[in-house]
Amino acid sequence: MNTLAESSERLVDKFGRTVNYVRISVTDRCDFRCVYCMAEEMEFVPRAQLLTLEELGLIARAFTELGAGKVRITGGEPLVRRNVIKLFRDVGALPGLRELVLTTNGSHLEQMADELRAAGVRRVNISLDSLDAGRFRRITRVGELSVVMAGIRAALRAGFERVKLNSVILKHRNHDEVADLVRFAVEHGIDISFIEEMPLGIIGDHDRAEVYYSSDEIRADLERVWTLVPTTETTGGPSRYFRIPGTGTRVGFISPHSHNFCESCNRVRLTCEGRLLLCLGQEHSVDLRHVVRAHPGDMQTLKQAIRDSMQIKPKGHEFNLSGKPVIFRHMNVTGG
Ligand code: SAM
Ligand code: SF4
Repeated sequence: MNTLAESSERLVDKFGRTVNYVRISVTDRCDFRCVYCMAEEMEFVPRAQLLTLEELGLIARAFTELGAGKVRITGGEPLVRRNVIKLFRDVGALPGLRELVLTTNGSHLEQMADELRAAGVRRVNISLDSLDAGRFRRITRVGELSVVMAGIRAALRAGFERVKLNSVILKHRNHDEVADLVRFAVEHGIDISFIEEMPLGIIGDHDRAEVYYSSDEIRADLERVWTLVPTTETTGGPSRYFRIPGTGTRVGFISPHSHNFCESCNRVRLTCEGRLLLCLGQEHSVDLRHVVRAHPGDMQTLKQAIRDSMQIKPKGHEFNLSGKPVIFRHMNVTGG
């Protein structure tokens, strides 16, 4: 049970930023192989090294008791993890929870949307980079657009408070589709965020500097078709939002290269192996799997390890598109 003292606690790093948001990657596996995220051949974490669903639930509970009441479940593809719905139910019932959200590629949403909503998931982000089945296949290497579309429809029917699309835009791959993707979002009354590719891991598919397409270019393309009105709205993440008058749609831009968002960073990430990453673009981390396995059921020790981790949260990231990536883990390890 949450005591008053616990729930009023806050996690504050040494730069004065409050961490109120944890993103939990429940698996590094995925049924897609998106070209910007993974290499075609990937070695995944052996199952024995994964945190169990119970351990993931315990860590989520520790965070919510420390004031990090927003929890995002991500991956890899979170919905391919066996019995993952149990974790959603457990986290959805935590007294300190403010908001449970999900990032998914949508491939399993047709079957799982209702259960996820019932477990307490409030908002869902679905990745969608193209409306053309052939292109979608080339970007995801194996994905089937019609399955994801069925997933999006199921999410809309299930009654989540908000559904948002995430599109990673690459020059010559899908940059010419941004206005159509926004039209799709407008027609379905949902939000969309455009993401600049981040140099995480070696992917072999393309030169990241060559395909870089900035948020400013995307915005200029959109403004030829749509009116974008800036808003100060936030969903607690790094997106800068614009409204399209006369529609319910917000258009967001996540711009790690062109608009660094580290100053207002409020989040940390847990990998599926239990490594607590203090920054997406740096390697500073704490091994929480060691903590939960060395001190089974000891909530105070776990919470103290999380409090202590705030001291090593770095000031920010520095992504560099030319040359080798500085960060060798792929995005599927950290969940974006
Ligand atoms: N599989 C789920 C999905 O695709 O939504 C969740 C995990 S995925 C790693 C989370 C988000 O990260 C997706 O929206 C994906 O497009 C984005 N992403 C993956 N690799 C990226 C990269 N190198 N740069 C920017 N975004 C990336
Ligand atoms: Fe899988 Fe998501 Fe990475 Fe695509 S972006 S390969 S769907 S984890």
